[in-house]
Amino acid sequence: MEQVVILGGGVAGMQTAAALSDLGIKSVIIEKQSELGGKVKTYDKIFPFFQSGKEIVKYLESKLQSSSLINIKTGTEISSVTGSAPDFQVRLTADSQRIPAQAIVVATGFEPFDASLQEEYGYSVYPNVITATEMEHMLDFESDTHGELTRPSDGKPAKRVAMIFCAGSRSEKLGHNYCSRICCSFTIKQAIEIKERRPDAWVTCFYIDIRTYGRGFEEMYRKAQELGIKFIRGRVAECGMLPNGDITLKAEDTIQGKPIRGTFDLVSLSTGMTPCVDAVKLMRILGIRVDEDGFFTSIDTETQPNISSREGIFLAGAVTGLKPIPDCISDGNAVAAKVAGFIKTQVVPQGFV
Ligand SMILES: Cc1cc2nc3c(=O)[nH]c(=O)nc-3n(C[C@H](O)[C@H](O)[C@H](O)COP(=O)(O)OP(=O)(O)OC[C@H]3O[C@@H](n4cnc5c(N)ncnc54)[C@H](O)[C@@H]3O)c2cc1C
Ligand code: SF4
Repeated sequence: MEQVVILGGGVAGMQTAAALSDLGIKSVIIEKQSELGGKVKTYDKIFPFFQSGKEIVKYLESKLQSSSLINIKTGTEISSVTGSAPDFQVRLTADSQRIPAQAIVVATGFEPFDASLQEEYGYSVYPNVITATEMEHMLDFESDTHGELTRPSDGKPAKRVAMIFCAGSRSEKLGHNYCSRICCSFTIKQAIEIKERRPDAWVTCFYIDIRTYGRGFEEMYRKAQELGIKFIRGRVAECGMLPNGDITLKAEDTIQGKPIRGTFDLVSLSTGMTPCVDAVKLMRILGIRVDEDGFFTSIDTETQPNISSREGIFLAGAVTGLKPIPDCISDGNAVAAKVAGFIKTQVVPQGFV
């Protein structure tokens, strides 16, 4: 029987396995963490409709569990791939087992930008400067913070909150010229969550442009403004820290054309996304190409967005660039259809039947 190896068990990898199973094709998911779900398993609420990310992962897990065609291996990675399509042999770091695969799907996702590289904001130096991922964790009722927004330096409630957009994105200096596409949306979502929990909070968003798109996104942005969240168009030049832990911030209001200063309890950086940490390693093991931005290259972004530079290897989810969850789910379906088509045209090698 045909078998596909899927690298990465985030929402993209999970949906690929579920869709392959619907087509009667076996798959093995290789996930390096101890659990499936990728980044989404930790999201309490997702934009633009405030559903639970955790519930989406549970739903996908139930689909995988109900299929006899899906094998899941967690806590391991690939160590080598030999052969060529449709007769790959995949070896794992955890054991010496050889897994035959007619096709391989890369769904290893992305990594948030390392905010300490943007030194002017003082992340990892000032305790009350945090990243959007840490904000997501703070807002999660099931986390150790119990959804309380407090200052890491002294545990006091954070009432004056600043959110700095485009951290690590759209910057020639940092070598990330691209827009990360979804940080405007998750930041506005987080700002709304803060304001709804603490109507007395002062939430100020410092943005360059607001790039929200799709059904329900504009409404979410409007809701944020109606709730009294302040939007200031301007790049933040630098942050500083006062002896009491307050964060000071200097920016230029580019609409009013004047410099501004502010003092906040907590500053959250809307960190953009970078390629997954294993991109270079996987590129070497799999013999596929990455683009100038470090994300995996498809043979044609317009017409073949899920086909890698090597025959029999496919790409799903955020490995090719930043995508919201619904696009990753669609990618899983698209890749499954492409893999099924590919397998159909191949002669099944001995050992698969
Ligand atoms: C702060 C923040 C908030 C967000 N909020 C939203 C939101 O509200 N709505 C929305 O639509 N999107 C949101 N997103 C985007 C969302 O996180 C992505 O769309 C989604 O995680 C991409 O799924 P993925 O499966 O492609 O990758 P990932 O979620 O990154 O999963 C990849 C998986 O591959 C595994 N892996 C990595 N390397 C290897 C390897 N070498 N071998 C085996 N396994 C490997 C990882 O452990 C992980 O489990 C947010 C992103 C951030 C940063
Ligand atoms: S999505 Fe918004 S915050 Fe993110 S890089 Fe693009 S413009 Fe900046």
